[in-house]
Amino acid sequence: MKKKICIIGAGIGGLTAGALLIQKGYLVDIFEKETTVGGRAVSIGMSSQTIDSYKQLLNRFNTFIAFSEPPLEEIFAKKMFEEYTLDLGFHMIGGGIIQKLKNIIMDYYQNITIYESRLFEQKNNHFGYFVTTIDKLSMLPNILRLLLSGEKTMKELDLISITETIKKYGKGKMKNVLEVNPRLISTINNLDLISTGEVFRTQKDMKLRGVNYPKDGVLKISQTIAAYIEKNGGKIHLNSPVTKIIINNKRAEGVILNDKKYFYDSIVSNILVQKLFTIADEHQFPDEYVTMIKGLEGTGSLCAYYSLKKIDQRLLGKTFIFIERDLGVDGNDAAGMIDFISAKAETGLSAPSQYLVQAYVICTPKEARDKNILNKLKKALDKNLERIIPDFHSQLQWAIYPATWHLDGVAKTIDNIKPDIQTPVENLYMIGDCVKAPGIGINCAINSAQIIQKIIPISD
Ligand SMILES: Cc1cc2nc3c(=O)[nH]c(=O)nc-3n(C[C@H](O)[C@H](O)[C@H](O)COP(=O)(O)OP(=O)(O)OC[C@H]3O[C@@H](n4cnc5c(N)ncnc54)[C@H](O)[C@@H]3O)c2cc1C
Repeated sequence: MKKKICIIGAGIGGLTAGALLIQKGYLVDIFEKETTVGGRAVSIGMSSQTIDSYKQLLNRFNTFIAFSEPPLEEIFAKKMFEEYTLDLGFHMIGGGIIQKLKNIIMDYYQNITIYESRLFEQKNNHFGYFVTTIDKLSMLPNILRLLLSGEKTMKELDLISITETIKKYGKGKMKNVLEVNPRLISTINNLDLISTGEVFRTQKDMKLRGVNYPKDGVLKISQTIAAYIEKNGGKIHLNSPVTKIIINNKRAEGVILNDKKYFYDSIVSNILVQKLFTIADEHQFPDEYVTMIKGLEGTGSLCAYYSLKKIDQRLLGKTFIFIERDLGVDGNDAAGMIDFISAKAETGLSAPSQYLVQAYVICTPKEARDKNILNKLKKALDKNLERIIPDFHSQLQWAIYPATWHLDGVAKTIDNIKPDIQTPVENLYMIGDCVKAPGIGINCAINSAQIIQKIIPISD
């Protein structure tokens, strides 16, 4: 008989695990508390939102609108969001993970259209590739070393901070790359906290490729995986919050929904790990484990969406990186991105003849709730957009700045080790961007699903 598995949460991690476990022969039930799949990788049709429903949705995902121009009330009253689709905040998908997704959902992948960009940089009075071919040649020995190094070398570098690596290897362009890429890869500005091993592992996993964004918003990916699951016999139950995981004698046996018990062979939690003990009895876990899980920190950012009336057509489809020096944030300098893939009409994100630009700058979860710091970060975003489009203010229809303090479920720093997928409770697993898997964000969530497929026992 086929084994039954329950996945709590239809985020991109839960859905990917669902697809892979069906392939392994399991009967899969996914319970999702929201009315849509996608979790934090959600895209919101703004025409159907009211100011209250929008604020509540953001709030359920630890996000709020820190600033807007004009005020949010006016944007809604004047229906300025009409025909826009917005994610919770800036989203971009890193490199090689797209190929992995293609291998997982096979033919269904044809329903997703991906736009890809290399990374650009605003130079003095023109823009160019962040890493040019000449730069690549000068860094070739180091790039080859990275591509050829195995997991053993990565492990040795795990406890070496990027600050130390810059001292050793940071000359010329290499210094610039080491100051920017690790920040963007980890969503952490403080180079003392970023692990060199982890950055190299992620770079390798990303196949040193550019960045990607799907047509119609990041939700398209989850919707497509969900369609694959349902077509192949899995069940996704929306509007179905799990209120308890049934655990007896340190063994997970099922879940409770609407006061009814459902029993399964294994339970996979896709929820933020810090919330695990709101639905699981902590007395069933070792004390040190409970303390460790409760103490884990996420990452944050201030995002921006700008709606522009006109745009230099050469910018369409390009993604820029920036680093803003001496901002006085943790790590002092802050890195971010400004993306014009979302400004292409084909992505279907903006109203006709309008251009949506998405941007973000990294901060800590604490800074994402500190109005003074957010003010500085907003200025950094505007200043860097101004460097690319000097007259952007005169082209601006509206701008909103979503601040989020749970961008990644758990920050990947030297001292904040992500927990294992297998928990100390038998038959209970955790997946998503909170657990130990290569990369961060969406990459980590998808990679964690591939790992669980390998470690979970065979179905029959
Ligand atoms: C503003 C913002 C910008 C981001 N930008 C990027 C980016 O550019 N690139 C990138 O790679 N990543 C980015 N991320 C991170 C990325 O969105 C997440 O890493 C990814 O979506 C996490 O997927 P997940 O499956 O691990 O978790 P989630 O998406 O959090 O999914 C968990 C699911 O569990 C559900 N749930 C919770 N409790 C229960 C319950 N009791 N019962 C049933 N269901 C429950 C939730 O509703 C949710 O759907 C960003 C995140 C934010 C917030």
